[in-house]
Amino acid sequence: MSAHPSEWTLRRLHAGEIPGPERQRLQAHVSSCAECHEVMKGLEANQVRFEEEVPFGRFAAGVEAVQAAARRAWDSAGGKGQAMSTLGVEAHWFLLRKP
Ligand SMILES: [Zn+2]
Repeated sequence: MSAHPSEWTLRRLHAGEIPGPERQRLQAHVSSCAECHEVMKGLEANQVRFEEEVPFGRFAAGVEAVQAAARRAWDSAGGKGQAMSTLGVEAHWFLLRKP
């Protein structure tokens, strides 16, 4: 059997995003390849677990929480921003000093 399809390809196959002949080729590979068969089983299990554990509302809330945390991190990095602009000024001086 030729090279294994990538996990991404298997994901797309699992999601039904791969058309006709290509899908048949991949399905033939998966059914004859223990390794890829395991990957597909893992994808199915992940999908089921994801849908059970994370209803969409909670998923959206999680995204919002991550964005809020990123904003807080950005705000509290004000000192770092200051350091960066100091560095920029020094770099500028260095360039000016060059003969
Ligand atoms: Zn394989």
